[in-house]
Amino acid sequence: MINSFTEALVSLQGWLLDRLVQPPLLAMGLGSYLEVAFDGVEFVLWGVLQMTLAYLLLRPIEALRPIEVWPDRQPVRVDVLYTMLDRLGIIPLLVFVLLAPLVVEVDSWLRFHDIIPGQLEDLLPALEKQPLLSFVIYLLILDFAEYWRHRLSHTLRWWWALHAIHHSQRQMTLWTDSRNHLLDDLSSGVWFAAISLLIGVPPGHFIGLLMAIRTIESLSHVNAWLSFGRLGELLLVSPRYHRWHHALVLPDDRRYRYGCNFAVLFPVWDQIFGTQYRGQAMPATGIGDDGPLPESAARSGFWRQQGEGLRALAAALLPGTAARPATSAHTNDHRPDEQHGR
Ligand SMILES: [Zn+2]
Ligand SMILES: [Zn+2]
Repeated sequence: MINSFTEALVSLQGWLLDRLVQPPLLAMGLGSYLEVAFDGVEFVLWGVLQMTLAYLLLRPIEALRPIEVWPDRQPVRVDVLYTMLDRLGIIPLLVFVLLAPLVVEVDSWLRFHDIIPGQLEDLLPALEKQPLLSFVIYLLILDFAEYWRHRLSHTLRWWWALHAIHHSQRQMTLWTDSRNHLLDDLSSGVWFAAISLLIGVPPGHFIGLLMAIRTIESLSHVNAWLSFGRLGELLLVSPRYHRWHHALVLPDDRRYRYGCNFAVLFPVWDQIFGTQYRGQAMPATGIGDDGPLPESAARSGFWRQQGEGLRALAAALLPGTAARPATSAHTNDHRPDEQHGR
């Protein structure tokens, strides 16, 4: 069953490459990119599959057991657009094109200095015969790196200016995972590529690792009463767990001044590094108007959000840049001074 599914996917991949991708590449004289394009088509196919499955499985649960019901779902539409751009490979292609020259530079520098990035299998040769165990170990390492990337994106003022786009959504749904500023996608791409290179993720694991991360991320933003049970929530990030990460009003504790529950897959990192909050309620989501974005950005379209993110970035990087005009007098007075985190 799995074999025939994989075979069907590979032949679809070949067909798409031959009919849709190869002719324009050759016409543009980019024949040397055919191999990369073959991997790119696989990446997009899995992305579409993941998005379709997430929709088919999670949308009915959102309809049956919603946490919040909104008469007007217009702000959700932009998140659907973000997800399409992400899962259909348009944003990843953009990130790839921007990163490719850097990767070529790093690669030739490493070759010139005779440095071959190691693999876990070099340290633990027994893993060669244990693909499942090796997959889990790579997943743990990548998730650990994701925890720190995510935590830094709340702590560094410039990064928070960009990441705030993800948090500005007050109607959080299964689509919200991909709602990110393009420069935030680029920073995450650099981080993920660097860590993958450093630990030598085997090409055979790559798509599987990405799919596991994306599936849990779609699930963790779902607008549905969905419990993993007390034990399950300790082991895997649940919708309630991640909802507290998006809470409009954070728990009143200095430990959470930049946010809580940064983990992407495994809550254990929050537990170890003191950023875990196990709230039982399902809080309202979004960021207050004391954040780097005007409140109206949450309801605006794609380009306006991208523009607001750039403006917030400039304000964070250039001292003296006019701060955005306040939209109301509200401030969150439980938060400490020098607010650049959550
Ligand atoms: Zn965040
Ligand atoms: Zn999120």
